[in-house]
Amino acid sequence: MGEFELIRQYFLPLAQLPGSGAVIVGPGDDCAIQRVPPGQDLVFSIDTLVEGVHFPLNYRPDFLAWRALAVAASDLAAMGADPDCFTLALTLPEASESWLRQFAHGLGRAASQFGLSLAGGDTTRGPLTLSVQVHGLVEQGGALLRSGARAGDLIVASGTLGDAGAALDYLSAVDEHQLGNDEQFLLERYHHPIPRLKLGAALRSRATAVIDISDGLLADLGHILDASGVGASIETANIPLSAALRRVKQQQALNYALHSGDDYELCATIPGSVWKETPQWLKRELTVIGVIESASGLRIDGTATEPGPEPAGFDHFRSSV
Ligand code: ADP
Ligand code: MG
Repeated sequence: MGEFELIRQYFLPLAQLPGSGAVIVGPGDDCAIQRVPPGQDLVFSIDTLVEGVHFPLNYRPDFLAWRALAVAASDLAAMGADPDCFTLALTLPEASESWLRQFAHGLGRAASQFGLSLAGGDTTRGPLTLSVQVHGLVEQGGALLRSGARAGDLIVASGTLGDAGAALDYLSAVDEHQLGNDEQFLLERYHHPIPRLKLGAALRSRATAVIDISDGLLADLGHILDASGVGASIETANIPLSAALRRVKQQQALNYALHSGDDYELCATIPGSVWKETPQWLKRELTVIGVIESASGLRIDGTATEPGPEPAGFDHFRSSV
């Protein structure tokens, strides 16, 4: 199958999915055109995944597609942007039809769930690598940055932390269905991260700073502290842990929650007065884990801590860049 036939068959259908409607020319011309509505800012970000570095060799193509789009869309969530469209640069060692069929299926499921239409891309031959660029829209000046945290703000995290990191131990299982329910739950968190797009949008008028947790809570909270020029205290007893992670990793569960990435939950800072007025449904999505302080540095249960490197050999698929 030629390059154009491949694009027509597998990728053009994904251009029909509804984004926000801002794409007025999709795949097929030299460039796509996105018309940014007056009064809105275009928010965009690109992420690259390399086989053997960011995902295992021979990883399931539908899972890979989901992960690639989710990881990219998570950055939109962290900015409070509404998703609109994405472009895909796909480098493939060979044009295997069954691989492409599964890949496009996973990509379509993710794209329709996240509200992203495919606006264009590039298809080349080489070692398996994917780059996904996502475009989102937000009211002018309304994007959520890392730099707005102020002393006294509460620090909140969404969902549960550490699950996807703990799953790395089970990724090489020959048959995942032979594993216990808890291990399968953790693996599902790695395979199908959910970008917190609705949560990001709900945080728009409430949070002073937001980041998505891709590298681990301490590392990513550290970015908010650096960008905002503040410090923080967190209470480990309040870190949200899944029952599965507690059972499987026992004493180690907290370590995974603090240091491991790949969950793509959000970490945000919210003034106490805003938190009081936050609707119950939103509070249920979030857990207060600490407070921003004017003294620089991070204190965990009262003890000063460096947001240092992850335990050696912990993250099999992340390069140092
Ligand atoms: P050019 O040589 O002008 O860069 P290409 O041959 O790379 O054009 O692509 C032709 C058209 O097909 C473009 O509109 C491009 O956006 C689209 N396209 C190429 N690869 C993909 C892909 N993987 N997914 C979606 N659209 C793609
Ligand atoms: Mg091209």
